[in-house]
Amino acid sequence: MNKQASNIKEKYTVSFTTLGCKVNQFESEAMTELLEQEGFVVVPHGEISDIYIINTCAVTKESERKSRQFINKAKRMNPEAVVVAVGCSVQLNGENLSKETDVDIIIGTKHKSNIGKLIKERLKDIKFESQVEEFCGREDFEELKISTVHDKTRANIKIQDGCSQFCSYCIIPYVRGPIRSRSHDYILDEISKVASNGYKEIVLNGIHISSYGKDFHQQDALIKLIEDINEIKGIERIRLGSLEPKLITEDFVKRYSSLDKTCDHFHLSLQSGSESVLKRMNRKYTADEYKNNVDLIRKYLPDAGITTDIIVGFPGETDDEFNETIEFVKAIKFSRIHVFKYSVREGTKAAEMKNQVDEAIKSQRSRTLIDLADSFSRDFMKKFEGKTIPVLVETEKKENIFEGYTTNYLKVLLKSDINIKNKIVNARIKCVKNDYLWGE
Ligand code: SF4
Repeated sequence: MNKQASNIKEKYTVSFTTLGCKVNQFESEAMTELLEQEGFVVVPHGEISDIYIINTCAVTKESERKSRQFINKAKRMNPEAVVVAVGCSVQLNGENLSKETDVDIIIGTKHKSNIGKLIKERLKDIKFESQVEEFCGREDFEELKISTVHDKTRANIKIQDGCSQFCSYCIIPYVRGPIRSRSHDYILDEISKVASNGYKEIVLNGIHISSYGKDFHQQDALIKLIEDINEIKGIERIRLGSLEPKLITEDFVKRYSSLDKTCDHFHLSLQSGSESVLKRMNRKYTADEYKNNVDLIRKYLPDAGITTDIIVGFPGETDDEFNETIEFVKAIKFSRIHVFKYSVREGTKAAEMKNQVDEAIKSQRSRTLIDLADSFSRDFMKKFEGKTIPVLVETEKKENIFEGYTTNYLKVLLKSDINIKNKIVNARIKCVKNDYLWGE
């Protein structure tokens, strides 16, 4: 580094490694734009560069381990490089990270917008830079902006940060702080920009988007925001990130389904179909409420894709409780389920719970649930055989074979001699094969 400090370059190259969720992806895109405006040259992930930024994740122990691995790998790729670790794992374990790795700059989940300034200071002066600040009750939303993203079809827009739910297995409220919503007008402004850059679909994301607007005491803030986005020229599809079942009221679904750009896809986090497990998880709904809300969605949007996450092997989960989840899944018939085996996350209430479930049982439950989920996914896809449905084409998988998504989030492969990328086309579905609808 001494050599680098005394030999300031005109242009420094930067590469990003992003772990974790859609919010991290958004924030990496926003930091990319910030650094480009400040004169840095952002190169693809994996290339040798002068500066490496690792946007870390802390959701599991494994994601923290991977974050460290990338920090160490960056120094091996270029020992002269400046290595920056940002985000959740830094917020949780910044001090250890700086002792145990060769990181040069650490930034927690706040002050990511200072990244350019901190890197420039470090390039002039070789001292270690740190910006990790505790949360102190009320927090402001840190504005990070994007106008373009590297995925040319779908733009991921962050509308909210933080979570105040404190599910007993989750570390996120401790590393992301309390809920804070982004300004309605800033979001509209950002979406207008991405629309003018050619993006057709936007996905509204956050740590807990169902809480959008609650910090400024507006109960219907999310649906109002969606109604205004629906008016933006150029945007053809509006999709929502993961939702809390309680958000789904008759008023919400009625207003949502009356708009012409909203997707009939809802990712409603379930986690367990057993009342007693939901209670231990400190989830704020019952299985019955969940089912009623799915019924409401299907009343207004009969072909809606309902996807979810389920954790198996939560502490104390008995065979009976697991079977309640199985019966619940059979009653709902989800279009897709992400199954997770519970993993202990230190610092959470669930980590202290007695009766941790044996790994072999977790694996067995996971397999059972995945098999069931696959059969319902297939049944759901089969419903569309022979139908003509709109598909937003995102990529050319191989020559003349294009991949896109339906509004209810099914993957479609299409054969076409002309380039149909970034277009919405009407596809006639011929069959279901290997997780895909095949259309023409
Ligand atoms: S809702 Fe629960 S699982 Fe989701 S981020 Fe908040 S605490 Fe974690």
